[in-house]
Parts: sequence; structure tokens; C-alpha cells
Amino acid sequence: MNVSTKQVSGAVVLVSVADLSSGERSVALYASDMPNRYRTTDAVQITEWVMQGIDRVGLDDVRRRAAYAEGFRRLSRVRMVTPQLTARHEQDFPKANRLTVAARHAANLSLYAPMSADARARNLAADVDGACPCKGTRTIPLWQDEDAAVGLACPVHSVTMRPAVQA
Ligand SMILES: [Zn+2]
Repeated sequence: MNVSTKQVSGAVVLVSVADLSSGERSVALYASDMPNRYRTTDAVQITEWVMQGIDRVGLDDVRRRAAYAEGFRRLSRVRMVTPQLTARHEQDFPKANRLTVAARHAANLSLYAPMSADARARNLAADVDGACPCKGTRTIPLWQDEDAAVGLACPVHSVTMRPAVQA
């Protein structure tokens, strides 16, 4: 591990970059002094921003926001975000382009600072910051037929609460 030992001056670094999922690194970068434009691939600089973001937002909040961002991304992909979820996402990340830049930096950093097994597992963590369109049923209703409801497997809850494998 060659970059995670970098200390941020004045900050108590309680977590190494290896312990952060790439989603968590993105959220931390968003909260840091990282410029809005993608300019550098310097792993030491990017790591410094990650640690700065952790220092500013706090690890718990970074993890929470990363899970919400992942949930939002999955619901967006199936066009199932609600106005409430969009509003909360935009409150957490007012600059959509900045989040994209942060994700690019995080992807780049993962080449130099791989994730620990725990961080990699947590990279798949997703949560919904409010009412999920599946309402906890794991299925998002699309339409109601005469005697059958047609629905879409919730990309957040049907994955995290894996149903039994169909025979
Ligand atoms: Zn759901």
C-alpha cells in the first residue's frame, strides 16, 4: 500500500483509503477541495482529497450518502426515481457534474489503491433516502392487469434482500 499512508496535515486519519469503497471515495471527493474539472490522475493528490472529504463530512455520513447515491443510481437506471428522492439526492449532491468527476477520480484511484475485501463488499451497498417506489415489497408496481399485478424487481431491495433461487 503506497498511497494510503499519506497523512493529511492537522487531520486525524482514522481510516485508510483501502477501507473505503469506491462509492465512499466518490462522496468524500465531492466534499473535498477537489476542483469541479477533471485535471489530475495523481493518486497522492486524490487520496489527500478523499481524506479531506472524510474529515469534513465524517465517515458515517460518507457511508450513508454513498449508499443513498448508489440506490439513486439504480432507481434512475430503471427510471423509477420519485420527486422526493430526486430532491434529496440534489440536496446531497447539488452539482451533478462534480459527482461524475469524483467518480472518475475514484475509479482512477482504485488502480493504485485497491479496496479491502470489506470495502469491496460495501461497494454494492445501496439504500433509499426516503420512500422507495417498491414500498418495501421488493417489487415496483408497473400496472395492474385484470387479475395480476405486473411489477419490476426493485433494483435496491430485491438485490439486498435476495429472494430464494427459483427452481
Ligand atoms: Zn425498493
